[in-house]
Amino acid sequence: MADFDPWAPPATGTVQQVAAAVWRIVAPNPSPLTGPGTNTYVVGTERPVVIDPGCDDTGHLGRVLEVAGGVVSRIVCTHSHPDHSPGARWLKERTGAPVHGLPAPDDGHQDPGYAPDAGLAHGERIEAGGEALRALHTPGHASNHVCLLLEEAGLLFTGDHLMSGSTVIIIPPDGSMRLYLESLRELRELPVSALAPGHGALMPKAVAEIERVIGHRLAREEKLARALGTRRAATLEDVLPDVYDDVPKFMHVYARYSLLAHAVKLVEEGRARVEGEVYRWLGD
Ligand SMILES: [Zn+2]
Repeated sequence: MADFDPWAPPATGTVQQVAAAVWRIVAPNPSPLTGPGTNTYVVGTERPVVIDPGCDDTGHLGRVLEVAGGVVSRIVCTHSHPDHSPGARWLKERTGAPVHGLPAPDDGHQDPGYAPDAGLAHGERIEAGGEALRALHTPGHASNHVCLLLEEAGLLFTGDHLMSGSTVIIIPPDGSMRLYLESLRELRELPVSALAPGHGALMPKAVAEIERVIGHRLAREEKLARALGTRRAATLEDVLPDVYDDVPKFMHVYARYSLLAHAVKLVEEGRARVEGEVYRWLGD
């Protein structure tokens, strides 16, 4: 590890040890949403746990298996989006390791072949090749999302709850901005020192990053509140250019989802009312 900066952005297809007993293998699925690709982590030295096998690509999964020494005790999926869980089937076939994860919602955005053998209770500890991982149910990005805390190191595997280099998309109704923020506030209280996201680089100063993301979301929410407050009634298409005026236009197709998630939260909190496509501002 002497010449390797664990905080540097990862490159597609690379294998790196990023912490004691933690290896990151980057899947070959780069895109505007996935960054360099999905990060698969191997945690523990003997009979390790694999977190987020990523896409079903035999080259990638072969690298994962090699790093694991051919033996895996568990495969954990932080959630069942198609860039995170499909590789679980191949790995399970080769190793016999059970797949752990929460049941998938039926919203058309999930890996259709996802079939966990066992769940993960909130706070449950699992053994990972000599290390202890604590599972944390963190709904928001997806209702079945879990993060995993490597307790001794204070390293939090965040899946898609937090990612490096871009903002997580939240797609209602399975995705919930209200629950996303609640989950972030819970994570903030944990003994977390660094974040190991499902996409992008390791992030130091975990609590500051969590605070930054909470602040960023609340600032976006206030932009929506102001846009609705000024117009009194508007569709989300009307306000999108104002609310996301700092985001490149080509990303607006994705921003639409999170805008809807913010609008749903305002309705849940009684700050707005929705009639068909039209949101009416009710005030604070
Ligand atoms: Zn996801």
